[in-house]
Amino acid sequence: MEKVTDYFGCMVFDDRVMKAMLSEKIYKSLKRTIDKGQPLDSSVADAVADAMKDWAIEKGATHYTHWFQPMTGVTAEKHDSFISPAPDGRVIMEFSGKELMKGEPDASSFPSGGLRATFEARGYTAWDPTSYAFIKDGTLYIPTAFCSYGGEALDKKVPLLRSMEALNKQAMRILKLLGCEASCVRSSVGPEQEYFLIPKELYDQREDLILTGRTLFGALPPKGQEMEDHYFGSIKPRVAEYMADLDRELWKLGILAKTKHNEVAPSQHELAPIYTTTNVAADHNQLTMEIMKKVALKHGLVCLLHEKPFKGVNGSGKHNNWSISTDKGENLLSPGKEPHENIRFLIFLMAVIKAVDEYQDLLRLSVATAGNDHRLGANEAPPAVVSIFLGDELNGVLESLEKDAPYEGTKDLIMKLGASVLPELRKDTTDRNRTSPFAFTGNKFEFRMLGSSNSISCANIHLNAAVAESLREFADILEKADDLDRTVHELIRDTIRKHKRIIFNGNGYDESWIAEAEKRGLSNLRTTADCMPKLCDKKNADMLIRHGIFTESEIISRRDIMLDNYVKTVNIEALTMLDMARTQILPAVSSFAAEKAEAVVTKKQAVPSAKCGYETKIVEKLSELEDSIDEAVSALAAAEAKLGTFDDIIAQSGFVKDVLIPAMDDLRRYSDEAESVISKESWPFPTYEKLLFGV
Ligand code: ADP
Ligand code: MG
Repeated sequence: MEKVTDYFGCMVFDDRVMKAMLSEKIYKSLKRTIDKGQPLDSSVADAVADAMKDWAIEKGATHYTHWFQPMTGVTAEKHDSFISPAPDGRVIMEFSGKELMKGEPDASSFPSGGLRATFEARGYTAWDPTSYAFIKDGTLYIPTAFCSYGGEALDKKVPLLRSMEALNKQAMRILKLLGCEASCVRSSVGPEQEYFLIPKELYDQREDLILTGRTLFGALPPKGQEMEDHYFGSIKPRVAEYMADLDRELWKLGILAKTKHNEVAPSQHELAPIYTTTNVAADHNQLTMEIMKKVALKHGLVCLLHEKPFKGVNGSGKHNNWSISTDKGENLLSPGKEPHENIRFLIFLMAVIKAVDEYQDLLRLSVATAGNDHRLGANEAPPAVVSIFLGDELNGVLESLEKDAPYEGTKDLIMKLGASVLPELRKDTTDRNRTSPFAFTGNKFEFRMLGSSNSISCANIHLNAAVAESLREFADILEKADDLDRTVHELIRDTIRKHKRIIFNGNGYDESWIAEAEKRGLSNLRTTADCMPKLCDKKNADMLIRHGIFTESEIISRRDIMLDNYVKTVNIEALTMLDMARTQILPAVSSFAAEKAEAVVTKKQAVPSAKCGYETKIVEKLSELEDSIDEAVSALAAAEAKLGTFDDIIAQSGFVKDVLIPAMDDLRRYSDEAESVISKESWPFPTYEKLLFGV
């Protein structure tokens, strides 16, 4: 049997391969670029490109591609072969440093939010040497950043790298003050990915799944997730085979797939990798999503990554486990055993608390999509209100710090910074709350609002940037302090006092929490239309610009792209519903009603005294529903037609939220009611029962 250790990373141009294939001088120079971001000179690039090409050809590759992440949310690639004609009619295989470092794809067909005039169709892709190149399906993939002719970011990688740099810069200022010896700081992420698997033959029979990735109609089956028998349940053989195959494919690409299990809903599952540097985690998560779908098809399955494939059934999210650590391997969110580690931990903890409070709206909107709107606040995922869970112990510590009072949880411990040790935080006390959007889990924060199909980049861009901003403000104060110990102490105390409203250790699903949150002045931005415009609020724009994450025009363009995406997504759903209602549902309801009406006539002819109670009632009911569906179709069609009349994207997205989506809900309600009374064979597409329990 093949051993995992033998094939893990076999398709990756990783450190092992670099060391083996490059001269020592070239290797060292490349390492300086990877580790310290030093520019790469062209002779080094040529040598690296040559080695990459030889390695890739050896592995059967014929093409290379600059792989990038435009604002569409999926990755993009254009394949070029290595061939180059030789004078005698043969070809030789070539790949230069220039081709490795820079590509010039036509950018005009990617969303730019007005950043790129059509006459400047050219865009650039630039090699990101911090994320390894890899081979997939006979092509060498080179992870790249994508920007416009004028240098504006057109992707999700450029701002992510900028945010990591901003965090590094500000965190280093603090570490320097504390006398730490690290030379750089990086954020790391482990994203837990949820998904559904359904049989391909059923998927193929549903226009909504094919066109929108979710069911737009469907009555709830008699059994859902109420028995709580699926979460961590034993994995069915067909799913287990899929998971094994998926692991293998991911491992070949050096992706650290670690954990797999069944999730809450029937046919829902989760995969979690071991955490790694944020930009690599983002690349790996994109690849993981793509490979999940591809491998499913090989097993006659379809992998649904939509946030809410089934109404009334648990949706799918992505938990973004985030921490910051130094190049010396110290986790800055880990409460230490020594007093100086406590101070460091508390400063970074305060930076996160302040960041999450001040930039709640940025965090909320970083995960906003039409799909994720169905989850957040729907009594299964975290609410749309952002809050932080710290756990009782840490909360107790903060309360005593706030009051300058002794901490009672640990005997004899006077919470005086620099002179005492924090109580050891047991993981089980910090990990219990599953309802919190942003939970401290021992030595990391788990941001749980991300949707399953989201790129993790947006969330981490805003999180890194907001924390960098807290650290900047802290460093400005501390660098001027005469008495550092005292100033740190006051800073921590004042930060708790000012930002404790964001801390909530209770049940986030509780109705009363939403009211309480409102009292505390926390924002509750329910939909994409509500939150996305906030990206351009002065407070947010100033901060993002200050740290060099975005320029002003990039910010506006991103808001517009995201809103446009929201409008288009819902519009496609509305059109799909109209089509299904007109060509499948109404005809089915009508024929079933007609069939029953004929039955009444036939039965009465045969047996004049027959009551025909069932048939009569069902004909009555279905005739009514048919009319309601028909009216709902007209109303939805009218709303959909009006959508095209808006010039302003903000007004248009408001219309989607206030008019279009409610019209879709109406249509669905009547249709689902009809589904629940007509015979299963007469329903025109597979029901929830089949989809959810079909594997
Ligand atoms: P859960 O209890 O939520 O299932 P786990 O403890 O299994 O979580 O971890 C979930 C994810 O968190 C994994 O991807 C793991 O690699 C990641 N993780 C663990 N420690 C850290 C850390 N220090 N920084 C970032 N991610 C981490
Ligand atoms: Mg988790």
